[in-house]
Amino acid sequence: MARVFDHAMRDALVTRMRFYRDLGLTEFYRRAVDPALLEQFESVVPDYEAPAADMTGQAVEVEGAKPETSSGITFAEARLGATHSAPSIFPLSGEESMSARKAQFSSPLIAPEVPLAGRAAALEIIREEIGDCTRCALHKGRNKLVFGDGSPAARLMFVGEGPGADEDAQGIPFVGRAGQLLNNMIAAMGLTREEVYIANVVKCRPPGNRTPEPEEGATCSPFLFQQIDVVRPQVLVALGATAATYLLGSRQPLAGLRGRVHAVRGTQLIVTYHPAYLLRDPRQKKEAWADLQIAMRELGLKAPGKG
Ligand code: URA
Repeated sequence: MARVFDHAMRDALVTRMRFYRDLGLTEFYRRAVDPALLEQFESVVPDYEAPAADMTGQAVEVEGAKPETSSGITFAEARLGATHSAPSIFPLSGEESMSARKAQFSSPLIAPEVPLAGRAAALEIIREEIGDCTRCALHKGRNKLVFGDGSPAARLMFVGEGPGADEDAQGIPFVGRAGQLLNNMIAAMGLTREEVYIANVVKCRPPGNRTPEPEEGATCSPFLFQQIDVVRPQVLVALGATAATYLLGSRQPLAGLRGRVHAVRGTQLIVTYHPAYLLRDPRQKKEAWADLQIAMRELGLKAPGKG
């Protein structure tokens, strides 16, 4: 990657990226699905076959595919990282009230804006800071660290959970079957993959594609926040419950988070289903399309063919 900064500028950038401001959470509104656009989306985003069942009749897990409900996350620890600069995640029991479900955590401060021309180099600095990472146990099973992909100047950024087998082999996020579906979803929005930015909560593949443990997410997510701060997308899309949990800093049922705009790190956050979940249950694609339409409206985009 071309270097456009001298050492002083680079040091200033590193300092800036470590300087975060508190984020706020604000919910704005809820929107309905446009049936005409839904029809179009369904023609552009083809159904995939559901994963094969194994001998026990259980569906074989595809990358990152988990139930898209709060119960889909198995957080082993009650409270992690309370003194960390990353979100602390609380387990969710059925008896807890919604207010109790909102984790109190000290969210990382938002870094000052990096000029467009410097964003690629700023991302490279973050990648260098991650280095040959051994900060958490996930490094032990890693083939390739999966940093991020796409335009450093993207107006739209997708956040997934963590690399699967294909991503671990290639070092690029969302290149497996879930990635193909994500590509189709991006195309249905009238965009190309090169125009958006894609990253994950954790940069190394969790064994067996399990949900990242809280300490893994808490260790790695500050780098995701730095990537968000550099790219400064107008709209962030959280793909699935894990991404939503770390971006919002609290664990809440996905159903309650979808369909509206949240404010996170100075950008608008839309929460939708993980593509791997949509592979398992393609009927939910219309719901995902409704979420993506919110993102499109915020971006001022019209679906292709919709003058
Ligand atoms: N699932 C994810 O959450 N991220 C990827 O990069 C691939 C699959």
